[in-house]
Amino acid sequence: MPKHYDLIAIGGGSGGLSVAERASKYGAKCAVVEAHKLGGTCVNVGCVPKKVMWYGGTLAHILDEAGDYGFDISRNGFDWTALVEKREDYIRGINDWYHTYLGDADVDEIVGYARFVDSHTIEVEGERYSAEHIVIATGGSPVVPDISGAELGITSDGFFALEKRPGRVAVVGAGYIAVEVAGVLNALGSEVSLYLRKEHLLRSFDAMLREALMEEMLEDGINIFPRTQVSHVEKQGDGALTLVCDQGQLTEGLDAVIWAIGRTPNTAGLDLASAGIRVDNMGYIPVDAYQNTQVKGVYALGDITGQSALTPVAIAAGRRLGDRLFGGQPERRLEYENIPTVIFSHPPIGSVGLTEGEAREQHGEAVKVYQTRFTSMYHAFTERKVKTAMKLVTVGSREKIVGCHIIGPGSDEMLQGFAVAIRMGACKKDFDDTVAIHPTSSEELVTMR
Ligand code: FAD
Ligand code: NDP
Repeated sequence: MPKHYDLIAIGGGSGGLSVAERASKYGAKCAVVEAHKLGGTCVNVGCVPKKVMWYGGTLAHILDEAGDYGFDISRNGFDWTALVEKREDYIRGINDWYHTYLGDADVDEIVGYARFVDSHTIEVEGERYSAEHIVIATGGSPVVPDISGAELGITSDGFFALEKRPGRVAVVGAGYIAVEVAGVLNALGSEVSLYLRKEHLLRSFDAMLREALMEEMLEDGINIFPRTQVSHVEKQGDGALTLVCDQGQLTEGLDAVIWAIGRTPNTAGLDLASAGIRVDNMGYIPVDAYQNTQVKGVYALGDITGQSALTPVAIAAGRRLGDRLFGGQPERRLEYENIPTVIFSHPPIGSVGLTEGEAREQHGEAVKVYQTRFTSMYHAFTERKVKTAMKLVTVGSREKIVGCHIIGPGSDEMLQGFAVAIRMGACKKDFDDTVAIHPTSSEELVTMR
């Protein structure tokens, strides 16, 4: 007889841990199956190590600027290995904490790869387990392009495994990871080239953000090659890599090529067909607004669904599913509108709601936009000027705010509170009526004319 649970979560990342912990809180008997490390992508090869490296990069910029504030400081070097070792220690601490957390929450931990036997039964390492409810939260993995020599490059996983700082790096891609990794490496002293296959980076973001970031990255010394398709990678006798592009352009002498071209859902090996679950044409598991798959008793959440691939989204969907299944809240679900997001670029970007383009498409003439661009007081004193740009997108005579987009130092910490206001339906007048905090950059958001 398989061991029976009320709920099994497949995947011990942000989503799987959250649904099991919340369900257990209501008294459900739960287990989490994890093949690798508890915490999943975010903790091990995502948000956490990335943010540590981003702090390192931010500090490098501040050290460069310290002289502008009267400090007699010189940068004598940077110990990549020391930072990476500390970072990995920190992550090990979080992994350990998760084991305790599951124990404290009375959730069983099952180690290994899960595959479906039927819609209520899975097999892990030869053992069978059954459950009334099975949640698929297996996340995604980085995509490697199907071109010759691609295996010579690394992905974000390989970036976090780098034991020393690469001197010359090519980053290929145009999304979150490409701009974050390029920014960190550049700040920490690598020579970085970024290859975009189209004209722009961050294409789905508001035009103001992507244009401002492109300017800042160029200003910071990153080489950006728009409309450049990489055709293959070669290794030279001395071990250095050469990136060859479609028009024959070569970039030689590279220590690393980093693919940052998106992620693909982890469904291989799950034997979804045994549970009667099909995937969409991108390989994601389709769900309804309540995270139900097409098979009763089987749910999916987080990156595996192809919805906003962000940790707090997976966590929120997991907790709400736990509330719905075991907490007597039958209508509880995550609303996927107005999800705030931050890109930890240099400088960072914060964005919530509709871009100006999306708003104009949906609301036409009813859209009114407020925007500003300025140099923050901090950078008034520094030789290197980093611009801040902000945009509020409003709709209708009450000027309901449907989009808020910020780039500049501090944007990462600025956005959360504004996201609350926007979710509550704030209008421009509510922003205008809010007393500003002076002197800050964020006060510009409540004083825009
Ligand atoms: P994951 O966290 O990926 O967890 C899935 C787990 O399932 C994994 O541990 C995997 O080992 C396990 N698994 C897979 N298949 C099986 C199986 N068959 N059996 C058992 N276990 C299995 N988001 C943010 O909000 N902020 C950020 O700053 C941020 N930075 C990021 C930086 C990088 C470099 C990357 C790659 C991602 C980043 N993200 C960030 C995205 C975030 O990490 C993901 O959205 C989040 O981890 C998704 O959670 P999840 O539970 O869906 O999947
Ligand atoms: P993204 O989807 O953000 O960006 C990948 C981009 O790479 C595509 O949009 C595409 O842009 C470009 N691309 C695709 N294929 C190719 C190719 N063959 N050659 C060159 N460029 C290509 O994926 P990421 O891998 O950057 O990140 C995955 C997800 O993880 C993000 O979407 C985000 O949800 C999450 N994440 C969140 C972070 C945060 O919250 N700060 C940080 C990191 C990741 P185009 O079509 O314009 O060429």
